[in-house]
Amino acid sequence: MKKSFAIFLSLFFLFSFNLFSQKGKEDPLLIKVKPAKLTPLKKEAFSWLESNTDELAEINDKIWSFAEVAMEEYESSELLASYLEKRGFDVTRGVAGMPTAFVAVYGSGEPVIGILAEYDALPGLSQEAVPYKKSVKEGEPGHGCGHNIFGTASTAAAVAMKEVMEKQGLSGTIKLFGCPAEETVVGKVFMARDGIFDGLSCCIQWHPSSANEVSLGSSNAMNSFQVEFFGKTAHAAGDPWKARSALDAIELTNVGLNYLREHLKPTARIHYVILKGGGAPNVVPDYAMAWYYVRDIDRESVEKDYERVMKIIEGAAKMTETTYKINFISGVHEMLPNRTGSEVVYSNLLIVGPPKFDEEEQSYAKKIQKNLGVEEKGLKTDIEPFRLPKRSWGGGSTDVAEVSWLTPTTGLGIAFKPAGTPGHHWAAVACGGMSISHKCIITAAKVMAASGLDFLTHPEIIKKMRKEWTEKRKGKEYKSPLSPDIKPPVKPKK
Ligand SMILES: [Zn+2]
Repeated sequence: MKKSFAIFLSLFFLFSFNLFSQKGKEDPLLIKVKPAKLTPLKKEAFSWLESNTDELAEINDKIWSFAEVAMEEYESSELLASYLEKRGFDVTRGVAGMPTAFVAVYGSGEPVIGILAEYDALPGLSQEAVPYKKSVKEGEPGHGCGHNIFGTASTAAAVAMKEVMEKQGLSGTIKLFGCPAEETVVGKVFMARDGIFDGLSCCIQWHPSSANEVSLGSSNAMNSFQVEFFGKTAHAAGDPWKARSALDAIELTNVGLNYLREHLKPTARIHYVILKGGGAPNVVPDYAMAWYYVRDIDRESVEKDYERVMKIIEGAAKMTETTYKINFISGVHEMLPNRTGSEVVYSNLLIVGPPKFDEEEQSYAKKIQKNLGVEEKGLKTDIEPFRLPKRSWGGGSTDVAEVSWLTPTTGLGIAFKPAGTPGHHWAAVACGGMSISHKCIITAAKVMAASGLDFLTHPEIIKKMRKEWTEKRKGKEYKSPLSPDIKPPVKPKK
């Protein structure tokens, strides 16, 4: 009796403590943000965006159908640059040695508000605007990351802000950056190295998403490079002792890397693909080439990991009596989130609200979900809570991180992709060139324009953003991962 009572008591306490503690710390990461003020300036920007929806949708659909991959975005970048020019921006094309990069400027003096635009597609993702897999042309590129929407909405936000500034005689500068080759993590890295982002007070960016959100998460720092091994060929059966296999060197490098993993911090990530490994089994390959990504929690860690990877490559060359060459493609920092700026963006997302998708659009999204075997929930129509990230580092890498080390950078995501569907996928392409994406554009552009107007008219916000940014950098100055002699991997116009 006594014993069972004691068990009852302890269970009771355990249960009530559990209830209490759950209630006590509802969501310790949640940040409460009040909706922003809907000022007359913002209303003016919103009404400009609403009355220009058709033209913006047309621009979006054109870039979607151009579907130009990294460094080939000649038509896409020109379409945005000429539209900005027509709307009164001063456009400089071909910045940082890349023909498809541009900067469009309106206004003068402080503050200088940057807005990032992207427009590169992904190879092999050609897809019609239908809710099942059907390519326009098999094997051709498609906008699997929604960068057509990205570029169009950012441009729309810049023009909406400019219209308000002009009418109301507001001072300050808007700089819209046409950033090519995000998918290869190249564009902004070269632009950052060449000082294109210098002198900004702050910067706004966004990304098409499956949720309506403002994230305070970071991203991984990364180095992307290729290794070429040079050996000696011979008949693989007749006189293989005369040969030195370049493919062996790659295989031994990869074996070495896979042993190295155990002795790197758990945050390190190394991936590779072999791009060239010979032509036939009976010919010893005298040439082989592989592509590697080394990622880690921050720039310093990536640099340390990278040094060790270099030793393994050197070792593999020694073992196989081959020579090698490293082609450093690009490197990025980890993202520096800015809470002050993100709170402003979130407060404006609260007044704009998520896109209002109609029944037809939801059933289109559900058909995609059905075809992919994921829950048929449609497109998200709520706003994610604004919260601190569960962990301070992220999985993927982005060249937006470079900008975040040069100026306080904020961002948001707006839903255009059915919930639960994969990224870089035909499902995203299917939603990118029709009414779903048009609604996403107007929502994203409204939030960016409203936030931009808040930054423009409230110098105290920018001051606070910059204070936070200075503290987070801990005295570190931006140092480009690229050496000064590396040139961007420009591709000619087709
Ligand atoms: Zn993307």
